Amino acid sequence: MDERPFKVEPGSKIKLKKFDTGGQDIFKNDEKAGLKQLKKHRKEIDRLQEILYASHQRRLLIVLQAMDTAGKDGTIRTVFKGVNPQGVKVASFKAPSSIELDHDYLWRIHQKTPAKGEIVVFNRSHYEDVLVVRVHQLVTDEVWQRRFKHINEFEQMLADEGTTILKFFLHIDLDTQRKRLLERIDIPEKHWKFDPNDLAERKRWPDYTTAYEEVLSETSTSWAPWYIIPSDHNWVRNLAVAGIINQTLAGMDLKYPTPVENIEQYRSELG
Ligand code: AMP
Ligand code: MG
Repeated sequence: MDERPFKVEPGSKIKLKKFDTGGQDIFKNDEKAGLKQLKKHRKEIDRLQEILYASHQRRLLIVLQAMDTAGKDGTIRTVFKGVNPQGVKVASFKAPSSIELDHDYLWRIHQKTPAKGEIVVFNRSHYEDVLVVRVHQLVTDEVWQRRFKHINEFEQMLADEGTTILKFFLHIDLDTQRKRLLERIDIPEKHWKFDPNDLAERKRWPDYTTAYEEVLSETSTSWAPWYIIPSDHNWVRNLAVAGIINQTLAGMDLKYPTPVENIEQYRSELG
């Protein structure tokens, strides 16, 4: 798995229309082989997660951001299928409560960051505070603009203290969103997902695009890089994300802790 086609190089200026939302060619247009590969990644993620947990030293934070219907939930469900549920936590960030609003915007985020040995997936994140908050003008321009600096420094602190950070933007096109919203009307089992508010958000697609472009340009850093994941096809999206997570865990040089001394001597006690 090569992460390069997806990674946002720190300092590059991103125009999302230059990024493909399909991406099947990256995996040779072969969905069947792709699903096989995905299974392999999942097995490896499960194996490495156990060592991460056992060694109790490092932490992994995975941030998922996307337009509505791009598949944040589906990515979590599929990529972590088969991974020990004790080792992975998901934190979903909705509109802040009044208590959360009484604090700074990173307060609720910091509480959910991974402890040693943990993988935590953020389903939405502190990036909402420079996205929805900007698009809906919930704070002044001056307030959200200075947040890029806070966010980069916050993430640098987490990284310095032993947290590996991966950030995924699930990239779909406007027509894919239309089809997926229609499915939520057409298919009764999907009705629960239909939120009329998504239609109002859809009208602001250009504003969100501008906001995401600035996020991707300003906050992809060597310590917390963004990856732009083509997400019109679920199999491409899942495979790309799983591959990057697998590669990252593999690169963390995880090792089981040193066992108790002379472990063999305890064998006799067991009869
Ligand atoms: P969903 O993920 O579809 O359940 O929706 C969660 C909603 O919470 C989305 O509309 C987000 O934009 C919104 N949200 C998340 N974080 C914030 C935030 N910091 N400020 C305002 N709205 C937020
Ligand atoms: Mg929603």
